[in-house]
Parts: sequence; structure tokens; C-alpha cells
Amino acid sequence: MLDRTEVFLEKYRTPLPTYLSEMSKHAQDHNIPIITRGTGDVLRYILRTVVPDEILEIGTAIGFSALFMKECLPDEDVHITTIEKIEARYAQAEVNFSKYDKDNRITLIKEDAGYAINRLRDEGKRYKVVFLDAAKGQYIYFLPVLIDLMDVGGVLVTDNIFHNGVVMNSKYAVNQRDRTIHERLREFLAAVTGNERLESLIFPVDDGIVVSKKIKQ
Ligand code: SAH
Ligand code: MG
Repeated sequence: MLDRTEVFLEKYRTPLPTYLSEMSKHAQDHNIPIITRGTGDVLRYILRTVVPDEILEIGTAIGFSALFMKECLPDEDVHITTIEKIEARYAQAEVNFSKYDKDNRITLIKEDAGYAINRLRDEGKRYKVVFLDAAKGQYIYFLPVLIDLMDVGGVLVTDNIFHNGVVMNSKYAVNQRDRTIHERLREFLAAVTGNERLESLIFPVDDGIVVSKKIKQ
């Protein structure tokens, strides 16, 4: 069920193409996490104002957000590199890309992002937009590499920084299972907001998004 705000906002959104609505339903039915409509709004705004030639995504899942980002820039010569480490997920992403990315604008890297992003950096790759949507406990370790992977003016969008609200709880109130992620996410938020190479804005949209623009080499 959509709440009142969601129903209202829906009136002002560009409707999803049918195949993306179907993928979204499939993801919901199979408990595959995909971007919310609110995260989609933020991504769309950034993509259509920055107009990147190269996008990097960490966390493909079944390819919904990669295809969504491509749909945001239908007339642009955009290329998307997306990384996924779990076989069950990237196998489905591959099927979806072969069906819906006919002009091969999306490249799938089937590997742990911890290795992949270091290699991309060593190869001298650069991205104007980076979408970070993977294991939240690793964000803090990915951050320095992702900053290097952008030129000044590049934008990093990080999803799910609230971890369902856990990040806001006092560390004494967090249960054992969430303790590490709580600490790592707080370190990440301190790092993105305190980093002199970045200007960051935390959007309290859905599960929380940080948008960070690289302002200094
Ligand atoms: N961006 C997708 C959803 C991603 S869900 C969408 O909105 O459609 C997060 C995904 O990140 C999961 O499929 C998980 O397997 C993957 N992931 C988590 N840690 C990763 C890592 N270190 N390297 C590569 N993929 C990772
Ligand atoms: Mg997410």
C-alpha cells in the first residue's frame, strides 16, 4: 500500500515503462531489494542535470536500477558499468540486459566490488555519476576509491544510509546483529559529510540517500 505522500507524488512522476513495472513487481514478489520510487526521483534528477557519459553502479541485483538509469537518459550516449557479486542475482540481470538493453549500453561486472573498483581505478576509468547501492557495511571502505574514480563535478549517490532507521539509534540501543553496520554507516556518514573533496547532502527520502559532489581533486 502506498501512503498518502507516495500517492500524491505519483501524479508528478514520469510513469515507468511496462517492462520496468513488471521487473519491480517481480522483485517485490521475490524479496529482491530495488530502489524505491523516491530514490528513483533523486537519481533521475541528478542524471538529467549532470548528464553523465559514464555511470558506475555498485550493486546490480537483477538490473532494475541500471535499466531505470538508462531510461532516464533516452537521448544520451550514456554507458553504465554495474557490479554484482552474487551469481543468482547477476544471472537474472544478464537475462534482463539481453532483453531490455539491446544497444549494449550496460556492462555487467560479475565480481566483488571491493576488487572491481580498485581495478577500474588502476585502469584509469572515470565516472560522472556513481550509484552506491550494495552492502552498507562496506561503503566506508569503498569511499576513497569511488572518490578517485570521479573527476571534479562528479556525483556520488549512496542509497539506504538509514538502514531502516537503525543508524539513528544510540549505539547502546542497537542489537548485536546490527552493531557493526551501525558503526560502519556512522563512519561513512561522518566521512562523506566531513570530506574536503566532497560537498554532501543527506536526503531523508525513504531509507535515506546521500548525494555527494566532488568539489576538489
Ligand atoms: N541497485 C539495485 C539493488 C541492489 S541490492 C536496484 O535498485 O535495482 C544490493 C546488491 O548489492 C545485492 O544484489 C548484493 O548481492 C550486491 N552486493 C552487495 N555487496 C556487494 C559487493 N561487495 N560487490 C558486489 N555486489 C555486492
Ligand atoms: Mg537500495
